[in-house]
Amino acid sequence: MADCPFCPGNEAKTPPETYRVERHGAWQVRVVPNKFAALDAGAELTRRHDGLKRTISGAGIHEVIIETPDHRRTLPLLSELDFAEVLDTYQRRYNAITADPRVAHATLFKNHGERAGTSLEHPHAQIVGTPIIPPQVRDRMENALRFYDETGECIFCSLMADELLDGVRIVAQSKDFVAFIPFAALTPFHLWIYPLRHTASFSDATQEQLADLARLLRTVLRKVYFGLKNPDYNLSIRTPPHEARGLRYYHWYLSVIPRVTRIAGFEIGSGMFINTALPEKSAEFLRCAPAEPS
Ligand SMILES: [Zn+2]
Ligand SMILES: [Zn+2]
Repeated sequence: MADCPFCPGNEAKTPPETYRVERHGAWQVRVVPNKFAALDAGAELTRRHDGLKRTISGAGIHEVIIETPDHRRTLPLLSELDFAEVLDTYQRRYNAITADPRVAHATLFKNHGERAGTSLEHPHAQIVGTPIIPPQVRDRMENALRFYDETGECIFCSLMADELLDGVRIVAQSKDFVAFIPFAALTPFHLWIYPLRHTASFSDATQEQLADLARLLRTVLRKVYFGLKNPDYNLSIRTPPHEARGLRYYHWYLSVIPRVTRIAGFEIGSGMFINTALPEKSAEFLRCAPAEPS
């Protein structure tokens, strides 16, 4: 596409790349700083306190991971090999960005489609290294720590053991990961993918585990693509701050949220979600959905 900054031939339209995967002399995956970055990679980290008004400088890193040179080949339609390169790139850039001393936490996410908030069609993910730990991450960690204090167990491992025993909300499973719809899913087809063996951080996933995840995630996204007819969706990696590697009470995972319903006044006003689909039914639908075109 002539006017797409992520298409081959238009490399000069993006800031200079920070990483690329090359095959046969051409790039397969390309990582560049976001031209419209939410944070400033050149800024110094400063804090100010003025009574109740506390501010921190917008220092941080915001990169775009261009997942394929092919404008129209959306993530689930990549070959197994290309898909694995994308996941490998996710982890490499996650590790590189969290190594910056100004970065307290990195959020890796993907918006697919207008309802998911994307402005560019060309398949891409984003990673934002922020100078603070997001409140949502802190809450999740604090709740997990409380559960660990009370039971001596990882809440994520416990929840996963229940799901594996029930079986009715499982969508797919591989050697190292399981994909399921949580018992109290907030929206229809809201998916979680957990490492089966306790692992605190996305950084801790081995090359072998990432390759296994690539196959499972590709299958799950293909079921969503063919079963729900290419819905808009958000994908995010939920992982604690980098220094939390090895924690016994936290467990990283990946979430995929198809945007088949809209959040509106009730959700914003109450913080509660109306889910019109039973998680068991959504799971059954995706379990049976084809991972190949019919
Ligand atoms: Zn493009
Ligand atoms: Zn665990």
